[in-house]
Amino acid sequence: METLIDIRKVSKTYFSGSFKVEALKEVSFKVNAGELISLVGPSGSGKSTLLHIIGFLDRPDAGEYYFAGHPTASLAEGQLAAIRSRMVGFIFQMFHLLKRTSAKDNVMLPMVYSGLGADPKKALDCLALVGLSDRVKHKSNELSGGQCQRVAIARALVNDPLIVLADEPTGNLDAKSREEVIQAIKDLNDRGLTVVIVTHDEEVSAQTRRVVRMKDGGIVSDEIRSPASGAIAAPKARSTTLPKARFGFSPSEIAEQFKAAFKAIWSHKMRSALTILGIFIGVGAIISLMTISEGFMKSLLSGATEDDAKKVWVSPRHERGKPRRPLSYGDLEAIRSGAPLAEKITPIVSGSVKASAGNIHVDARVQSREGFTLEAQRAKKNIFENRELKGRFFTPADNLSRARVVVINQTLATKLFGAESAVNNEMRLKNITFTIVGVAEDNQAEQIFGGQPTAYIPLNTASKRVFGQNRLNYVEVMAPTPYDAAEVRKQIILALRKSRGLRDDKEDDFDVRTFEAQIQLFKENMGKVSLVVYAIAGISLLVGGIGIMNIMLVSVTERTREIGLRKALGAKNSDILSQFLIEAVTLCLIGGGLGIALGLGLGWAAYFFIKVPPTLGAGTVAFAFTFSSIIGISFGFWPALRAAILDPIEALRYE
Ligand code: ADP
Ligand code: MG
Repeated sequence: METLIDIRKVSKTYFSGSFKVEALKEVSFKVNAGELISLVGPSGSGKSTLLHIIGFLDRPDAGEYYFAGHPTASLAEGQLAAIRSRMVGFIFQMFHLLKRTSAKDNVMLPMVYSGLGADPKKALDCLALVGLSDRVKHKSNELSGGQCQRVAIARALVNDPLIVLADEPTGNLDAKSREEVIQAIKDLNDRGLTVVIVTHDEEVSAQTRRVVRMKDGGIVSDEIRSPASGAIAAPKARSTTLPKARFGFSPSEIAEQFKAAFKAIWSHKMRSALTILGIFIGVGAIISLMTISEGFMKSLLSGATEDDAKKVWVSPRHERGKPRRPLSYGDLEAIRSGAPLAEKITPIVSGSVKASAGNIHVDARVQSREGFTLEAQRAKKNIFENRELKGRFFTPADNLSRARVVVINQTLATKLFGAESAVNNEMRLKNITFTIVGVAEDNQAEQIFGGQPTAYIPLNTASKRVFGQNRLNYVEVMAPTPYDAAEVRKQIILALRKSRGLRDDKEDDFDVRTFEAQIQLFKENMGKVSLVVYAIAGISLLVGGIGIMNIMLVSVTERTREIGLRKALGAKNSDILSQFLIEAVTLCLIGGGLGIALGLGLGWAAYFFIKVPPTLGAGTVAFAFTFSSIIGISFGFWPALRAAILDPIEALRYE
């Protein structure tokens, strides 16, 4: 008869504190294929320790173990996992079913880790064998103790093991369930399976043909009873070549890893929600900044024409929000004579004033520029970006006569006149009475979110009547081509320094910007703001990452026994590592996804102040998700690794 288990002088010693417990003392023990053996003895005599060593859940300190003729001392962890998965079926006193999981899924689990693919039909067959066909969909908490143990027996069978090992399988059961379980185990043996059953119940051992007795870490008797209590069954013909270690994952393994990870997150919804808060806020902060600055760039560039690229802007340098020295009409003349390359030179006056109609007062922006009237006549719509104009625009004659005529935008019209038509009504700017000759439609974004109240008036009216004599806010200069803009800028700087009498050692008290320089400046300012936001976001993400790590450590600790069980059923270290990494990364991705939504929301909230719609590019989304995954992997790795390298039997014993 073939020898399946051959244990020679195996010892196992435990140290707990200064105590030394010799759980096994040079035990030798053989099991032949097809036997049904009961291992009996008082508590603490070493039965479980021996069974764990036989089942590759634990290793001996000394001695030799041959399994189906193969020495096992030098087997690596990966190969042990494969042997547990394919050769051994373990049944525990505590059943160790997966919580909140159906009987069928519990039975499927060893198949998942075998790499051969999970076959639901086989799981159902095994459940039928133990008489549980009518409890397939019941979850572990909806089954009696005896039924749970029979599910565990079905689970031990599902991968066609060479040997089934049962550690006090009836210890937690009442008399009737005990009979059912014993019968199920005896049936297995009748079909040719080799079974070793640990028990301290003489009634159980009385039903097996061979009884091995242990005491104080040694075997004290090994007797074969009369054939009356069962003959040796003919063992099943089966290959006894040891399976190789497997690398990589089968599809069903990957599916199980995701399922376990999602279940863990879903069963702790509140905790998961709090965990991702840091990632949520951090990613949200970064994304809001990115969408806003992308929106800025987009509107800057999309609104830009070749004319914009030709423009050179001259403005007084500001100090604490006020111009240090205003631009004057004298400066305008200096530019006209000192910058021969410049093509068109346009003075612009603008400012904030109180606009009133009747007893309604609104803070409004007033804008006017030389040539406003002519441009407006030539391309009435262009000046308002194709917006409709109700009424008319002002004429050159209006400008010459400093007429008190005004064109206002819809926002201001609505504020002052409500639904009433504003055209041909009167209003006051700085208490000067104007006639409204036209109303310009708001653009689309302004229509949705409300625009800034704006009034357009002739330049002469603005400088002579509203803002005082000699004050310009900007001068807009056009270079003949975009490439000349830099040269024009140089000429303007020289001319203005001369006209303003700046000595060589004084710095400019004005700014001359080309379109390119303006974009550059915008980027620089954005960069300064970004630095602050990124620093805050970085701290939030770090705290978030540590939160993830913390919760993952809790999750691993909570599920130590589940990890032990998975390993006992054949899960590789990499299966466990991957399962927990998926959990951490999924948490981070949820946080990141919500963070994107938060960022976009903040971007739209900022729209009320800066009037630039945020833009969410595919690159930004990809960045957020990649970033979240990296956080998940880096902060989840250590907890996942701790789970992966847990010792199966220590994990199963964990309280
Ligand atoms: P049995 O299953 O026969 O009741 P065990 O094999 O579980 O006995 O234990 C044998 C001895 O080894 C006992 O004295 C027990 O206290 C000790 N022992 C078992 N596991 C450990 C452990 N992980 N650490 C320390 N001592 C242990
Ligand atoms: Mg025990």
